[in-house]
Formats: sequence, structure tokens, C-alpha cells
Amino acid sequence: MTGTLITAVPFSSDTEIDGGQPHEYRRRELVEPDWTRLPGWRDVTREQWESAQWQRVNCVKNIKQLRGVLGDTVGEEFYADLEADQQRFATMSMLVPPQMLNTMVPDAVPDTASFYADPVRRYMIPVATDRRTDWPSHPYATRDSLHEHDMWVAEGLTHRYPTKVLAELISTCPQYCGHCTRMDLVGNSTPQVDKLKLTLKPIDRYDAMIAYLRRNPGVRDVVVSGGDVANVPWKQLESFLMRLLSIDTIRDIRLATKALAAVPQHWLQSEVVDGLGRVAQRAHAQGVNLAIHTHINHANSVTPLVAKAARTALDVGVRDVRNQGVLMRGVNATTPQLLDLCFALQGEASILPYYFYMCDMIPNAEHWRVSVADAQRLQHDMMGYLPGYATPRIICDVPFVGKRWVHMVAEYDHERGISYWTKNYRTSIEKHDAAALDRRYEYYDPIDMLPQSGQEWWRKKLAAEATASS
Ligand code: SF4
Repeated sequence: MTGTLITAVPFSSDTEIDGGQPHEYRRRELVEPDWTRLPGWRDVTREQWESAQWQRVNCVKNIKQLRGVLGDTVGEEFYADLEADQQRFATMSMLVPPQMLNTMVPDAVPDTASFYADPVRRYMIPVATDRRTDWPSHPYATRDSLHEHDMWVAEGLTHRYPTKVLAELISTCPQYCGHCTRMDLVGNSTPQVDKLKLTLKPIDRYDAMIAYLRRNPGVRDVVVSGGDVANVPWKQLESFLMRLLSIDTIRDIRLATKALAAVPQHWLQSEVVDGLGRVAQRAHAQGVNLAIHTHINHANSVTPLVAKAARTALDVGVRDVRNQGVLMRGVNATTPQLLDLCFALQGEASILPYYFYMCDMIPNAEHWRVSVADAQRLQHDMMGYLPGYATPRIICDVPFVGKRWVHMVAEYDHERGISYWTKNYRTSIEKHDAAALDRRYEYYDPIDMLPQSGQEWWRKKLAAEATASS
């Protein structure tokens, strides 16, 4: 047999393709920012910092407490701007765990300019001058923009997809994000928003949810959420999860917790780690996929403690820890920012970069939202840099439809910023709606991102609607 001689091509700099790419990967080690750089935490010990209880007690809930941590590193104009936002625009009250505050301006003592510019600050501590003055809200923005409450089949149990439900066990979180899509229900009321209240006692609410799931064996997947499950006392959460595991038609359970990144100390407490291990072992024995879904929006939030919390969950048997970030202008809506976050999650913290959601159409959120066209471009530009299974999908959560990948748009009027979407299942409020699957559902880009002609079209349309209704 005559063989073909294959000559090895020497690996020379000519064959290296690193240079000249739009983005270059350089591994970056995770670092826990030094909290003692902040005046209020000069004397805080590592033991205190790593205590979940210390983190909870020292959460920043108001301007006075923020001043207590930052002192005069940040000028008075910032605090006045924050006060104005809380009075006039905020849909969420303030609640920032020390762990999160410490990831703002992580490499230096903040000053006014760097604190204003910080990406984590921009969504956790929004100020009035962040918001748009031309179009602060989209005219069709609503408090419950995904109509989750309308789709409750028991208090807190949203049945939107054929085989999946969302169980909101609690309406609080250890941290409140300015852009929260559940601003209708989650957190304390603000001067702008009187929140909806859960009325049943937790035990009765959980009983009703479990009863619904037993009656409906077509549901196989439960997202256990809130709020944030880190605020459910562990014994209650474990009992609920074990009850879910006693329903043999439930095959996927996903725990939703931003606290994995915002208060990783919570998920490192021995009571929680041991309990999670018991639930994971039972899930594994029954072949049920138990995962944690967290919510991290910027690479700066991925620290060694966050990685430790994720790896600990995996070590005790949780199948996967995945990230569902939110795409926001000023925070992460550029390809380098998204890729840096994904490299940190996937490469350094064992967290799968799973989804980025487009920020939903809630009031006063236009400065964060991006257009569908921008989301499509970002999705395109992220392809090829991560393993396929770890390349996140950018998702538009279309009202009355649900999650759609941004390239699934059926039709798109770029001038007016109106995209049209279809769907392939009925939600729980459309059982008898024969046209539900034939209809096209609309989603709206931020008006400030439209060409002048598109903005003008909206102005005229809204003026005509106002005249008609007066
Ligand atoms: S953690 Fe989730 S539910 Fe809680 S405030 Fe943030 S976005 Fe809302």
C-alpha cells in the first residue's frame, strides 16, 4: 500500500489567527474586590464578609446607608439624583447586598464619575439622570408586561407554556434590580408603584400549587422562583422541592436565584448546602434534572465567592448552574461586554451562559431596552467564540407569546420599531381562543432608537389616540 506522506506544517506566527479578530480572548482570573477600600467597610473582616447573616444585615436599603458605606467618595449630586429617582421613577425599592455593592468600581475607591459610569450601579442603583426624558416609558409598557398574573392557575403559579409552569413561592428577594420584570409583585411599594400582594399563607399557596401539578400531569417542568428562592426559609423550600419530587410526572426542576451572585454567602451556608445535597440526591435517583438558574448581568459580578457557590451546588449533585442575564443598554449591550461575561461564567465559575433576555416593556425602562435589530446583531457577533452549548441565546419575551429567539421574528417594521411574532401553543388564558395560533403578536422597540420618521409616526399616533379618547 502506498501511503500519502503528510508533512506537518510548522506552527508559525503566520498560522496563528489570534490577531485581527474582532474580539480576542485573554483569560482573566477572578478577583474578589477589596471591600476595605470603601470607607464604611474599612474594618470588616473576612469572616464577617463571608457570613450570609452579616451580608443580609448590612444590605443597603436607603440613601443614608449608601452614604454610610461610600462616605464622601461620591458627591452630593449623586445622592440628590438618586433621591429624585426614588421619588419620581423607581419601580423597585432599594436593596443592595454588600457583595453586589462591592462589585461596583471594583478596582478603585469610587468617585462620582466612576460610580455614575459603573455598569452594575446602572441597574442596581438607578438615578433620575439615567432615565430618558424624551421617552422614559414606552407608551405600551405595562406593570405586568408578560401577563404572568393573568395566567395564574393558583396564586403565584403561572401556566404560560404547555409543559412548564412558574411557581412564585415568595414576592421578595435579597436584592432588588431596577429593571425587575416582576415589578408588579416583587418587593416593597415605591412612590410610583403600589405592589400587588400575595394573599394566601405560604403553606396554603404551596398546597394549591402542588394540587394543581398533581391534577395536571401534562406539566413536566417547574421553575421554582419568586422573587428569589433564597428568601424562602430553607426548611420550607426543601419541603416544597421534596413534594415536587413526589410527583412522578415532574422531570425538570429549576431553582431561580440571583442570590447565587448577589449573596453567594447564602448558598454556602452549611444548612443550605446539606439540604441542597439531599434534594439533589433524590432528584438524581429519580432521574429528575435539578438545576439552578441565576441572573448575572456583568463580568464584574463574577467573583471567586460566586464561583465557589456555583461549584458547591454542582459538587452536591445539582446537574447544572445556568445564567439568565438581562440585556441592557449601559450595562452589557455590547459584544465585548457580553463575551467577557460569558468567558467569566463558563471558564471561571462553572456557570453555563444560557440566555440573555431583552429587558421587558415595564414603565421607565426605555433607557435600558434595546431594539430587536440590536439584539439580533449582538447574537450574530457572539457566535463562534464559545462552545456551541455555552453560546447564549438572546431572547425576546413577547407578551402573550413567551420566549422567542430574536431571529424568529416573522415580520419587522424597522422604521416604526414594531416586530411581529407567531406562536405554536396556547397559554392558559387562550384555551378557547380558536385564533390564538394564527394571530401575529407585536413587540415594540424603544422609540428613541427609531429614525426620525418612525418617532414622528409614534407622536402622531399617540396624539390621535389621545384625541379619540378625550
Ligand atoms: S432578583 Fe429577579 S425577581 Fe428579584 S428583583 Fe431582581 S429581577 Fe426581580
